Amino acid sequence: MEESPIISPLNDAQLEAVTAPSGPVLVLAGAGSGKTRALVHRIAWLIQENGSHPWSIIAMTFTNKSAREMRTRIEKLLNTPTQGLWIGTFHALGLRMLRQDWQAAGLSERFEVIDNADQLRQIRKSMEELKLDEKAIPPKQILWRINACKDNGHRAHNLPEELSKDEVFSLIYRDYEKRCQQLGLVDFGELLLRPCELLKNNQIVREYYQNKFDHVLIDEFQDTNHIQFQCAQLLSTRHQSIFAVGDDDQSIYGWRGAKVENMLGFNRIFPSASIFRLEQNYRSSGCILQAANAVISRNSGRLGKKLWTDQADGEPIQIYRAYNETDEAGFAVSAIDASIASGKAHNEHAVLYRSNAQSRVFEEQLIARGIPYSVYGGMRFFERAEIKNAVAYLKLAVNRDSDPSFDRVVNMPPRSIGNQTMESVRFIAARHGVSLWEASRLAIDDAKTRPRSRESLKRFRAIIERIDALSKELPLDALVEKVIHESGLIDHYARERGETAISRTENLKELITAAGSYILELSRESPEQRKNQLNLFLNHTALEPGPRGTEEEFDRVQLMSLHSAKGLEFKTVFLCGMEDGLFPHQLSISDGNLEEERRLCYVGITRAMQKLYLCYSRSRNVFGKQMRCTPSRFLAELPEELLSGTRQPVIEQKQWQKESVQPDSNLTDHSGKNLELGCTVRHAKFGEGTLMQAEGTGAYARVQVNFPEAGKKWLVLNYARLRRV
Ligand code: ATP
Ligand code: MG
Repeated sequence: MEESPIISPLNDAQLEAVTAPSGPVLVLAGAGSGKTRALVHRIAWLIQENGSHPWSIIAMTFTNKSAREMRTRIEKLLNTPTQGLWIGTFHALGLRMLRQDWQAAGLSERFEVIDNADQLRQIRKSMEELKLDEKAIPPKQILWRINACKDNGHRAHNLPEELSKDEVFSLIYRDYEKRCQQLGLVDFGELLLRPCELLKNNQIVREYYQNKFDHVLIDEFQDTNHIQFQCAQLLSTRHQSIFAVGDDDQSIYGWRGAKVENMLGFNRIFPSASIFRLEQNYRSSGCILQAANAVISRNSGRLGKKLWTDQADGEPIQIYRAYNETDEAGFAVSAIDASIASGKAHNEHAVLYRSNAQSRVFEEQLIARGIPYSVYGGMRFFERAEIKNAVAYLKLAVNRDSDPSFDRVVNMPPRSIGNQTMESVRFIAARHGVSLWEASRLAIDDAKTRPRSRESLKRFRAIIERIDALSKELPLDALVEKVIHESGLIDHYARERGETAISRTENLKELITAAGSYILELSRESPEQRKNQLNLFLNHTALEPGPRGTEEEFDRVQLMSLHSAKGLEFKTVFLCGMEDGLFPHQLSISDGNLEEERRLCYVGITRAMQKLYLCYSRSRNVFGKQMRCTPSRFLAELPEELLSGTRQPVIEQKQWQKESVQPDSNLTDHSGKNLELGCTVRHAKFGEGTLMQAEGTGAYARVQVNFPEAGKKWLVLNYARLRRV
């Protein structure tokens, strides 16, 4: 047994957790201590040593990337494919459940998963229907609020009291729910909430899954929200075999409803739980680990963990003080270039940032030097317009009643179906209570429809019918190739000029490749499911960030936000944009939510194995204006002896902290008049108010104003256009 590849690469504490007798287990440990390794080995151990069947195991993670990595590692350990094992993100697993039990879940068989952009479109429609002004109520805000409600398990009809007081919001939420139900649309929040309700309310389904799954495992447990934890709990009620691993110091999704209390409450819910702590960090050099420990030790209310390494201190952490963001990117990219020239692989280097918008400058420099890179997050591949267009044809082939898809491509590429025709189609649909597809058939038969529109509608319908027929014969990639040609999309984009047109046609071709690689994935599905290949592929496009390449294609420099870097590790990490207001983010500073930002900083630092660069810029272009920036307060929290490069940030930051105790004496209003605490200012929307507090300087100088009507507001001076009265 000792020689087994499942057991031998574990330390004593890991071994104990991995081989713990069936029952609730919580592994509570710091970054890089091998939590994910323990979880992967636990699954392999359950299958090989404990005699569990792969189909009796469900494992939940937070990103598709880590789900894939975990499956590969398990298969390697067992030396066999793991068909039947449910492993994936909470969303993907929720979707799988809904596909299987759509009827019990109250959905139509062909329901469609929608992304945030489509969700926003439906919210807009609800607001239009309710005759609500988008300027007064930003639809994006409604989207956030609806998602937050769903994350907490609140439907429109059972909102908690404080939310139900907002009648406008409940009306929109109610209409949006009705709309999605009618159109068979399922948003991301719904992928979690509906399976949870299904398990709670439907005894047959609940018992089926409780009997099916003997073991439930959760990675990154600190970031589960209320309903995710509830789902996991419901699934493990019978067997009580739940294995959760997490680190309270890495809880970074509080803003999306994640409850670190789940971690604390584990013991209460599972009183017989065994708790294991892992204390050795295997990932990072001594310096990097000390820096991470120093930063996180500033947080209060931690569960408290020790973390040590037997690795040497290694190289000190490099601080780079850039002149502006171009200089910052130039520095990082030339360091990467030099490192690659010395024989390192591209994907050993990662550039991490707080906000996705920061990637552009790095991309420009990487392109200029011809260094291949991948950007995670930001605009997902499947969210690009041209890809959504192609996918809409496929969706209609699967489900003619998909009105959003019909709307999207009936005249894309343009085929002379004008607004007037579409209006009458919509009118017919509303009057007869049918889908746009059915209404278009009625419109063709309608004598009032102009012959030209009639022909165009017929042609469009014929394309969809043909795609449907082809989908039953062709493999996925060949089908996608047909679709982009027969729909006329590729010719349409090829006729356009310029860089974007080229990248659009390239993206469409990439979609063929994406469909090709999905065929491999299909082999894991049961033969019965495989018949639905197109449907499965469409679900996959809704949840996946982008097409996958071969290992070789993966050898690229990695660019991603700190949030998406969770769980990953890289030899060399550049943490960029370490400036107050950017990181920590201004919103978190105002909300007093610094501890979550600090945890994010801890996550960032602990991604690095050997080399860590922390970069900040003295000035940065913010919304088209060059602004002076202050180094991040997190830089000042690092012990100076661990740093090399300039010591400036620490000194600058300390100075700034002193300054910020008293408001900047140079604060001025829009016309240059000096502002003082207690003075009266006028704001275009909120009216007159009293200046209560001020903080920060330069780009991020902000003031708090108390408005009699609107209440207290924090405003960024540069944008608020205040006038001293
Ligand atoms: P995070 O908190 O960032 O998710 P983690 O606790 O999940 O980290 P892992 O990713 O599982 O940590 O492991 C970190 C690194 O340490 C990996 O490269 C892993 O292979 C290595 N590692 C873990 N345990 C051991 C061990 N017992 N011996 C050698 N290397 C190990
Ligand atoms: Mg991990």
